Amino acid sequence: MRLLEYQAKELLREAGIPIPRGGRASSEEEVLSIASRIGFPVVLKAQVPVGGRGKAGGVVVAESEESAVREARRILSSKFGGHLPESLLVEEFVPVERELYVGFVLDRSARTITLLATPYGGVDVEEAASEHPESLLRVSLDPLVGLLPHHARRVADALLPGTELKRDLERIVMVLWRLSAGLDAVLLEVNPLAVAGGGLVALDARIEVDDSALFRHPELPRPPPSWRSPREARAAELGVSYVELDGDIGTIANGAGLAMATMDAVAMAGGRPANFCDVGGGASAERVKGALELVFSNPRVSVLLFNALCGITRGDEVARGIVAAVRELGLSPERIVVRLDGNMAEEGIAILEEAGLKALRSFREAVREAVSRAGR
Ligand code: GDP
Ligand code: MN
Repeated sequence: MRLLEYQAKELLREAGIPIPRGGRASSEEEVLSIASRIGFPVVLKAQVPVGGRGKAGGVVVAESEESAVREARRILSSKFGGHLPESLLVEEFVPVERELYVGFVLDRSARTITLLATPYGGVDVEEAASEHPESLLRVSLDPLVGLLPHHARRVADALLPGTELKRDLERIVMVLWRLSAGLDAVLLEVNPLAVAGGGLVALDARIEVDDSALFRHPELPRPPPSWRSPREARAAELGVSYVELDGDIGTIANGAGLAMATMDAVAMAGGRPANFCDVGGGASAERVKGALELVFSNPRVSVLLFNALCGITRGDEVARGIVAAVRELGLSPERIVVRLDGNMAEEGIAILEEAGLKALRSFREAVREAVSRAGR
């Protein structure tokens, strides 16, 4: 889950990192009232869950009331990366001397957290990093040990050699690390971390919290429902794991491992899976029905392969859920192939066959059948 800039900055401020003065506004009146408090010029910033706003016109400086109103109106009615701004952040304009970059990013394949830092921060940080590769500092942090003071000193030596701000930067790097680790962040970056007026100030902040750790953070704001696609939102309501892919064979399985194996088997048989969907162990007929409805609401899906290996889950319960869904949704039985094995499989297969559905015990045969029904 990505926090909006104003939410991320609030966490930085609470942790003792300087941020510009300002506030969040949802209307032109609020923009003007904040501007009159902090004084012109002000910076107006679109609050959207995507980066690159500076280059897209979502971050602008306004020198007067008229331009603030005009720009606020424009930004609030424009989309950035497909998102209408939730609000505007109105901040004092900070005269910047230098723009640094500091970030912590989870490296899943190396199972570490990488500390990244460069003296060439700002909106062109990617280009700067490829132009000056030697200036990009990368330090792999053992997640169990975390950031040590000498790491922070390396950052300060690389970014602000020989300046009086080194100690400040060391402190900020340590604080950012503690914040990132405490939030279970998969990404925390400050870009730019500006040198301004003899101090350091975080002009932008991006924080992404691991979705799987959100339950540990009831204090964090939740993303508005509009950020999710309707099918993802529905899946979350149903309590099923659902990831959409671009194929045409829908898949549902009980258990994440089986769901992955089902997608692999479909692909190996020459088909293209339309989604990953795990209804979990012990799924009720109600949840099974919800999952079918969800998978078939994707217009690309031609055929569904339902793969149920029943242990705790009862085969007859799964079968009843499938039959109920087929009836209520008015689905053609031709579009569904069920592989059912394990606990109460015989009873389940009888229920499915009575409803005119194809039901098989063999995984391999069920995959073949689904792929051939999809016309491949
Ligand atoms: P992003 O493009 O979405 O990452 O948005 P940022 O918040 O990083 O803003 C884009 C750029 O605007 C920054 O990299 C700065 O160069 C500039 N900027 C933002 N706020 C200020 C400010 O108060 N003073 C100055 N001089 N520049 C600012
Ligand atoms: Mn930025």
